[in-house]
Amino acid sequence: MGLLPYKNEPYLDWSDESNQKAMRAALEEVQGSLGRSYPLIIGGKRVETDGEIVSVNPSNPSQVVGRTGRATEREADMALETSTKTFDSWSKTEPEARARILLRAAAIMRRRKFEMLAWEVHEGGKPWAEADAQVAEAIDFLEYYAREMLRLKDGVDIYSIPGEESRYFYQPMGVGVVIAPWNFPTAILTGMSSAAIVAGNTIVMKPSEFTSIIGAKVAEIFEEAGLPEGVLNFCPGFGGEIGDYLVQDARTRFVSFTGSVATGLRINELAAKQIENQRWVKRVIVETGGKDAMIIDDSADLDAAAADIVKSAYGYSGQKCSAASRAILHRDVYDEVLDKVVEKARVLKVGVPESAGIEMGPVISEQQFEKVSDYIETGKDEGERVLGEDPGDPENGYFVSPTIYGGVDPKARIAQEEIFGPVLSVIPARDFDEALRIANDNPYGLTGGVYSKNRYHLERARQEFKAGNVYFNRSITGALVGVQPFGGFGLSGTDSKAGGPDYLPLHMLARTVVERF
Ligand code: NAD
Repeated sequence: MGLLPYKNEPYLDWSDESNQKAMRAALEEVQGSLGRSYPLIIGGKRVETDGEIVSVNPSNPSQVVGRTGRATEREADMALETSTKTFDSWSKTEPEARARILLRAAAIMRRRKFEMLAWEVHEGGKPWAEADAQVAEAIDFLEYYAREMLRLKDGVDIYSIPGEESRYFYQPMGVGVVIAPWNFPTAILTGMSSAAIVAGNTIVMKPSEFTSIIGAKVAEIFEEAGLPEGVLNFCPGFGGEIGDYLVQDARTRFVSFTGSVATGLRINELAAKQIENQRWVKRVIVETGGKDAMIIDDSADLDAAAADIVKSAYGYSGQKCSAASRAILHRDVYDEVLDKVVEKARVLKVGVPESAGIEMGPVISEQQFEKVSDYIETGKDEGERVLGEDPGDPENGYFVSPTIYGGVDPKARIAQEEIFGPVLSVIPARDFDEALRIANDNPYGLTGGVYSKNRYHLERARQEFKAGNVYFNRSITGALVGVQPFGGFGLSGTDSKAGGPDYLPLHMLARTVVERF
């Protein structure tokens, strides 16, 4: 298949008036489509349910973005049954044909980009640039995994002994249950689903209950791209209602999950138990949370470091698994860096992201708002609040201002637990050794960063910083597909490295076939 080499989708230039105009038009158009209902899609058929999921705008919770069906075990069963039946034909479909569907989905997503961005603003509360980066990432996943399938379709080279031929190749695995979080509702849902599908599997796709409308849009795009009916079964529902059922079922061959560590561990546990008629050890891909640290040593470019701490801590209101939530500063530069971070965070434009120029929107839900508010209270006993106010009334939108606690003990709860909001804990360190020790003294291990001009420090961190993605002298969020394969270890997950060369094989069975001549 003659394809251009892989290249990341460029970000939109918001200083270009035509992009601003297109975005305003898309926002208006999507505004006119709010409140619609989206049923489940199983085997290509629209399936209505008794209950519904009502999705609201986190900037204005009284505004309904839309409603989706709400699967119960009955519909989950239908989705698993259809996936099982469709596996036979889809798994035999040529890898090139499967890859073409991803390429077409990427083209459609590109054409519908502003519309997708507008849904991100309304349902996800994302500022324009954050929404754009996310939809670009979804397009990247489609383009990258299509090429990865072409790379792997005939297997990979191994050695043979004289007189024999040894072949090593991959085959589709079976029915996958794809369970996604709300924080990257287009990118992560598209990435997990497209990898599973292009590898020849069929899936039950469950978006987060907070972003089910975007889930419906992603399902629509795969349908428009010509994915045969029953390959992707769109099954919105509450995790607490259908999650266990989907994970435990004997028809489920693998689970691809991104979300919180508590849910991830539960899935891991349930998937491990064999039930009647189960004929395999289920494979579980689990990508979870982080408590990501940036270390700034005494040789660093302090202005750049402060700017990148702010970018990494407050992008999408800190609701990124990769977000910097701990800044560990060498004591000799502690005051200066903290002052710079406070100054830059103080001027972030917080507001309803429907307007251009807004840099930080709300947090996603009332539940998340309450959780972050609780941590802000806890922080008052654990550090000195040098920036931020108590959150207001959630009825006016789930807004939390950029918050910084200084002088935090590395063992404090706000320095150890994932808050998933715009709250940064700043921790002093005596020297680089201690800074690295503090960074590593956490059960998570997702992203991390070091700002330094000291070669010895960078080389040590390269080996010793306990995180799946380590970045030097730059921000620690916004991993690019194919460029910065993403995923953590420790309690951050199974190190699957989405957007990397090892990801697709996780969705396939490797076979060794040897013939003696
Ligand atoms: P969550 O665990 O609450 O929900 C994630 C998904 O799991 C949702 O679709 C939910 O409905 C479903 N779910 C809930 N209970 C379930 C159950 N018993 N069985 C099966 N599924 C169930 O997480 P969230 O709040 O949506 O997402 C935020 C979390 O995701 C944060 O911890 C963040 O760090 C993490 N995250 C990690 C990555 C990564 O790549 N490592 C990326 C994005 C987000």
